[in-house]
Amino acid sequence: MSELIDVTGRLRKMPVEAGDPVAYSIAVGDTRIPLNDLIGRPLRLDFDGVIRCIHCDRKTNKSFNQGFCFPCFRKLAVCDSCIMSPEKCHYHLGTCREPEWGETHCMVEHVVYLANSSGLKVGITRGSQVPTRWIDQGAVDAIPMVRVATRYIAGLVEVACKAHVADRTNWRAMLKGDVPELDLAEERQRMLGLIADDLEALRQAHGQDSIREVDEQGLGLSYPVKVWPEKIKTHNLDKTPEVEGVLEGIKGQYLILDTGVINIRKFTGYEVRFRVMEG
Ligand SMILES: [Zn+2]
Repeated sequence: MSELIDVTGRLRKMPVEAGDPVAYSIAVGDTRIPLNDLIGRPLRLDFDGVIRCIHCDRKTNKSFNQGFCFPCFRKLAVCDSCIMSPEKCHYHLGTCREPEWGETHCMVEHVVYLANSSGLKVGITRGSQVPTRWIDQGAVDAIPMVRVATRYIAGLVEVACKAHVADRTNWRAMLKGDVPELDLAEERQRMLGLIADDLEALRQAHGQDSIREVDEQGLGLSYPVKVWPEKIKTHNLDKTPEVEGVLEGIKGQYLILDTGVINIRKFTGYEVRFRVMEG
């Protein structure tokens, strides 16, 4: 079989563009290869054993927090536990690992949204990360619920919502494609009712303008998937550095191959050779 594409470089999270369906590329080193048109073709990923930190470029034996070396993992604000748990933001205590980064990434408007990825879930993201965040989670539908002044307040609103709804995606269900339809505008009304007292208390504490309920439209998303997997088998480059299979679809940050699925984001920083065959 001759090769259509043969590139070597460091893997990155897949760049996405909203559309019907979502348009995916794979980023290998400085090369970006559009993937949608490659569905149906055999491809191959070979991991050469080298992982380079996406922040400082240093070689690392193990990837921390999806692409960082251990020193960066300990040092950078983006790797702090408050990024996973924004309600633990400690900027106001003067202990942010990188206050300047915090000012541009956390002390800015955030959106608390509802999404349907594997059922109803709540999530938060920076305003500018809509709809990328939704696509990365494989949501088929998402709707903004409130806009808030900071990541911290978004985290507090999310905590209130978590009493009533999941905040995680069941990625196995997400990849099976049988996600039941939901009326997110209706779910938003219901959720705002359930957390009305919490929102009032948060406004008392952080200012009336800190939380704004929004009436924005939702966004439906479709994904380029030709064949949904029946059983989900996962590829792991740490265990099996050669992955081969016919590309059958893409959803979230997953490539769906006929031999199993692979979460590309998980291998950010891995140096790979990526090949697509004529087939
Ligand atoms: Zn590093």
